[in-house]
Parts: sequence; C-alpha cells; structure tokens
Amino acid sequence: MTATRIDGKAIAAALREKIAVEGKKLIDETGVVPGIAVVIVGEDPASKVYVASKGKAANECHFKSVEHALPADTSEDTLLSLVGELNEDDSIHGILVQLPLPDHIDESKVLELIRPDKDVDGFHPINVGLLTAGAKDKAMVPCTPAGSLILAKRSLGDLSGKSAVVVGRSNIVGKPMAALLLAESCTVTIAHSRTKDLPSVVKAADIVVAAVGRPQMIKGDWIKDGACVIDVGINRIPAPERGEGKTRLVGDVDYDGAAEHAGFITPVPGGVGPMTIALLMANTLTSARRAAGLEDLD
Ligand code: NDP
Repeated sequence: MTATRIDGKAIAAALREKIAVEGKKLIDETGVVPGIAVVIVGEDPASKVYVASKGKAANECHFKSVEHALPADTSEDTLLSLVGELNEDDSIHGILVQLPLPDHIDESKVLELIRPDKDVDGFHPINVGLLTAGAKDKAMVPCTPAGSLILAKRSLGDLSGKSAVVVGRSNIVGKPMAALLLAESCTVTIAHSRTKDLPSVVKAADIVVAAVGRPQMIKGDWIKDGACVIDVGINRIPAPERGEGKTRLVGDVDYDGAAEHAGFITPVPGGVGPMTIALLMANTLTSARRAAGLEDLD
C-alpha cells in the first residue's frame, strides 16, 4: 500500500482564503477589524520565523497585526504589563505570546494573565478546562491539535469509534489532541516516554498522531495497514547530501517507511505546520466575531 499524502499546505491555503473572505465580510458589515498581537521575547531564530509567518498570514486575512519584539532581558513585570494593556485594547482580539520564554520569566503566570476570550493559542486554564469538559464550542482550541484534527477528518471522514494513539503528552499538543479525538468519539490512547512496547501501541491505532520531537522515531512497520498518520514533529537534521553544513526538516515519523503501510500521511514540511497558522487566524476571527456579538462560523 502507498499512502495518500495529505497536502496540509493546500488545505491550509484554502482555509486562509475562506478566513480572508469572512474577515472582509466582518469588517464591511460591522466595522470590526480582527486584530492579533504577537509578543516575542528574545532572539530565538525559529521563533522569529514563526512570528514572521503569523504576521504575513494576518495581513493576507485583512487582519490588524501588531508585533511586540522585546529584548531577551525583558523583566517578567514588563511582559505582564504589556499583556495587561493588550487585554484592555479593544482593537486586539487575539494575544499570542510566543513560547518558549526566557528562563527568568514564569510562563504560566504570563499565559494565565491573557484574557481567555483573547487566548488564541488556547493555553489558558479556562480554555483547557472547557475543552476537557467537552465544551469545545465555547473554548479557544489550541491551533496545532485543531489543525491536525481537520487533516484527520478530511482523510477519514467520521472518526467515531476509531482507535487513536497520540504519542506525546505536552500541554501544547499531546493532551489537547487527545481531548479533541475523544470529543470525536475515538478510543484514545496517550503514549509518552514511559510507555511500554510503543510499537505495539502504535500498531493498534487507526489514527496515529506523533508529537514527540524526535526525528523519524516512529518506524514504518509500527503502522497498521491503512492508518491515518498525522506527524506534528518538526526536527532539523543534518543533510550532507545537500552540501556541507546543510540541514533539512523531518517529522517524528519515518515518512517513507510509514507511507508503505499507512492509508494517509502528512509530510514534514507541508503537513501540520501550515495548518497551525491557519487555525491561529481562524481563532482570531472567532474571537473578533464573538466581540461583535456574532455566532461562530462552522
Ligand atoms: P514536548 O517536548 O513538550 O513533548 C514531547 C512529548 O514526547 C513528551 O510527552 C514526552 O514524554 C514524549 N516523548 C519523548 N520521548 C519519547 C519516546 N522515546 N517515546 C515516546 N514518547 C516520548 O514537545 P511538544 O509537544 O511541544 O512538541 C512535539 C513536536 O511537535 C516537536 O517536534 C515540536 O517541534 C513539534 N511542534 C510542531 C508544531 C507545528 O505547528 N507543526 C507546533 C508545536 C510543536 P514525557 O512526557 O514522558 O517526557
């Protein structure tokens, strides 16, 4: 079997286009311009790339986009007061603080200060609670898991009754992914570094979501025939075949091996990554629509 490659890049582009149309409609009909503020502390090169692509996507969607780039030695108090100001700013509907933050700043203090209705990353305990309590329609859902779910549903249709394994239990990806799959009535297993016999656990799953951060760790022969494989991992590895000192991105799944068994599989890059940014725009639009007293779109 050779898997169908899930084209996250194309699916995300279509979603961004739809958001741009809806964003324009909101502006024309209510005067509300969806606004997103991205806050970055320090000089982490990967974070800077993500922040730039978020700003570009916001512009494409006709959103107001503001970037606050703060030096690495910014104090916790300064960051907290900036978040406080953004909370009060009616032109801002989404606040995103790029993680990781420098060690001297308490990440949870910052994330907990963001107003839950402006928490477009979905990391505030109120949003985590709503998602876990099965009230995801009232929550802001984290972007990477929400985008991953769309890709799985596009591939398999109704997920009800399917067995799913999520490898990784982070608050950002693994846990919310598991909550979303449970809300789709999947039978969900969450695997992590202490899981025994991971290959057998993965082999039992109709849906495999890999969110580990270890290059190509999940091997082809672990995958059940016909399974849907969603690879969240983004890992940079040396690529001497491209020239001295060159690197390339790979996922947590051995793509070529897994594609021989899977029914559907996301590539890295071009799979989950672009969906994350599209979902960030979707969450910002949702927040702006709620601020304008409108119902959520489908
Ligand atoms: P974390 O490092 O926070 O979590 C990794 C998880 O993997 C942990 O739960 C850990 O288990 C588990 N793990 C580690 N080693 C093993 C192992 N040998 N076997 C089984 N499980 C293991 O990572 P994130 O969740 O933040 O990110 C995961 C990956 O997704 C990264 O590559 C990251 O770059 C990528 N990512 C991609 C995004 C996108 O837009 N596509 C967005 C966010 C992340 P334990 O809890 O026991 O330590």
